[in-house]
Amino acid sequence: MAGESILIVEDNPVNQKLLMAVLRPHGYRLVTAADGEEALAVACQEQPDLILMDLQLPRLNGYSATQRLKSNPLTAHIPVVALTAHAMPEERRQAQQVGFDGYITKPIDTRAFPEQILGFLNHPRATSGSI
Ligand code: MN
Repeated sequence: MAGESILIVEDNPVNQKLLMAVLRPHGYRLVTAADGEEALAVACQEQPDLILMDLQLPRLNGYSATQRLKSNPLTAHIPVVALTAHAMPEERRQAQQVGFDGYITKPIDTRAFPEQILGFLNHPRATSGSI
């Protein structure tokens, strides 16, 4: 219950609710964004400890949003974990290129998810889910 903040970037309301329901009991402060542009604004403003980023988003997709987060000195230090339904090798390679710190496939494993998140908060780039 360290009270770290997590930005959830997800345009699908059902997925967003699920992520919040799974993470809320662990004491995180949760903030949300429903598209890539909003994610950039909220990340700058809120300075979250971790960003969970859907890849297919309106206005600005997850790849482009993450690329911009990683090239902005205000947000470059924040770990960004990709959330995607597709675990294709090509997609994983692309995610690595734009600077994602990790990769979690959807549908999420609701039991394992909190532990995966903890790994990214404590040891970015050093957990089993990292790329
Ligand atoms: Mn989406």
